[in-house]
Amino acid sequence: MENVVIIGTGPAGLTAAVYTARANLNPLVIEGFQPGGQLTTTTDIENYPGFPQGISGMELMDLTRKQAERFGARFKNGEVVSSCLTCLPHSITLSDGEKIEAKTIIIATGASAQYLGIESEHKLIGRGVSGCAVCDGAFYRDVPVAVVGGGDTAMEDALFLTHFASKVTVIHRRDQFRASKIMVDRLLAHPKIEVRWDSAVEEVLDVAKNEVTGLKIRNVKTGAISELKVNGLFVAIGHKPNTKPFAGQLDVDHAGYLIARNTRTNLDGVFAAGDVQDAVYRQAVTAAGSGCMAALEAERFLGSMK
Ligand code: NDP
Repeated sequence: MENVVIIGTGPAGLTAAVYTARANLNPLVIEGFQPGGQLTTTTDIENYPGFPQGISGMELMDLTRKQAERFGARFKNGEVVSSCLTCLPHSITLSDGEKIEAKTIIIATGASAQYLGIESEHKLIGRGVSGCAVCDGAFYRDVPVAVVGGGDTAMEDALFLTHFASKVTVIHRRDQFRASKIMVDRLLAHPKIEVRWDSAVEEVLDVAKNEVTGLKIRNVKTGAISELKVNGLFVAIGHKPNTKPFAGQLDVDHAGYLIARNTRTNLDGVFAAGDVQDAVYRQAVTAAGSGCMAALEAERFLGSMK
């Protein structure tokens, strides 16, 4: 039986791996479908402390993984498809049918940015299409960008992007935002921001050049098609925490995020770290911080079992 199984290899999971490995707990880390997590879909990370010149998401995750391996963390490829967290010991089952038992489990499965689901968008993720304005906004200095969405994230993203972009167009599928009034008022009053109501992105241009040069937009009421020149498209239509394998066993909030107090879930020995339990900050450094917290909590829990 494992002491600690960590599910996820974004900043939360890898930091938990560094700490639990260094505590001689010999953690097993399950890599999942996107090794390195969401960071690997961004370009350079300029706001992670300690890297004054920035660092690529891929490299940061690679370095953190090596750091965990140095202290003995073991890594295993595999997607967790189901779990029994109410069982003692806890268990998880991988897609190949392998069952792993553990005294403690740290869930660091992250949240996936929702995308529009159109083919041209998919091809340009990381090349002008982004799901994270805070991560990538600074790369769009003095060029026009667009934000899709009408919730608080879209408002925040659009306002944040005004620090860099020459113009921000917010594209929303209805004629009313769902975001809080204060954010909407702030957005509508901003001279750099224009709103395209009742509009949907039909296509991201120009796949052939392998970088975003514009959008084809459809007015959902009139059907009229227009083009908008932008160099970046920020999709802010919500995130979905990756909790499917744990469904029905852990407390979640209205949006499906795990509820954790100091990373402790409602089940003893089960901890949550990173974006899977954080709808608010969603930063690499906050995820790493909570990974550290989960590791220390797991260590404390194992100590109390003896
Ligand atoms: P929301 O679910 O609140 O909003 C998503 C937005 O995207 C909606 O306007 C929705 O349109 C639109 N949308 C969804 N799917 C599509 C699609 N396929 N095509 C086009 N548009 C689409 O998500 P957020 O990430 O904005 O917010 C999540 C939670 O986090 C909320 O509770 C929010 O209040 C909170 N939050 C709080 C912040 C703060 O307090 N500072 C900052 C950011 C988020 P429609 O309106 O038509 O459904």
